[in-house]
Amino acid sequence: MSLSLNDAIDSTVLLTTVTDSSNIEADNWTTCYLGLGSNIANELGSPVVHVQQAIEGLRQHDNIRNVRVSSFYASAPMGPQDQPDFINTVVEIETSLAPLVLLAVCQALEQSAKRARLRHWGERSLDVDILLYGQAKIAEPRLTVPHAGLGERNFVLIPLQQLAPDIVIAGQPINSYPQASDWTGLKILADKPDDR
Ligand code: ADP
Ligand code: MG
Repeated sequence: MSLSLNDAIDSTVLLTTVTDSSNIEADNWTTCYLGLGSNIANELGSPVVHVQQAIEGLRQHDNIRNVRVSSFYASAPMGPQDQPDFINTVVEIETSLAPLVLLAVCQALEQSAKRARLRHWGERSLDVDILLYGQAKIAEPRLTVPHAGLGERNFVLIPLQQLAPDIVIAGQPINSYPQASDWTGLKILADKPDDR
């Protein structure tokens, strides 16, 4: 695999800005963590490009501020093994969007990367999941927070820990989750991008 952040810099892909005017709690900013992943290129670019474009979309959203990005990681696929490794990163944001509106923004970013669902846990040009929304516990048909797989996935826990080493998830410090220190199938890809 020869992926680099320069793929993104060289990209001529036009940025699709995701905006949503339904700002429900304008003065109420919540720190949230999003998990981004990609393992297929398409006409819009490489997996790294998809992830970088999504980060740009988040940065440009009026109701999202203070975006911080972990290193980029390569991870072995979880489901079918006959698919490329994933690029993963975790992004910290502050947002004034309500959880379901934030989910809609995440899904709009996936659509901007022309995501097609091919098979369960299969390849995708972009996956954007809400990992944590402040301290909220959400159990709705379309949204489970903390994200259901968070406690078992090293490709999420390790980058999350990089951004928030003292965070507590479901009452447990992140460093007490075994997968937060298990690097099986995981490789760091690039230095931490600058926070802007
Ligand atoms: P996965 O990320 O598990 O591979 P998808 O990205 O296709 O699967 O998402 C399937 C559904 O999961 C979405 O339609 C969304 O409504 C739901 N979902 C539930 N909780 C979350 C969450 N925390 N973040 C993102 N999607 C979620
Ligand atoms: Mg998802």
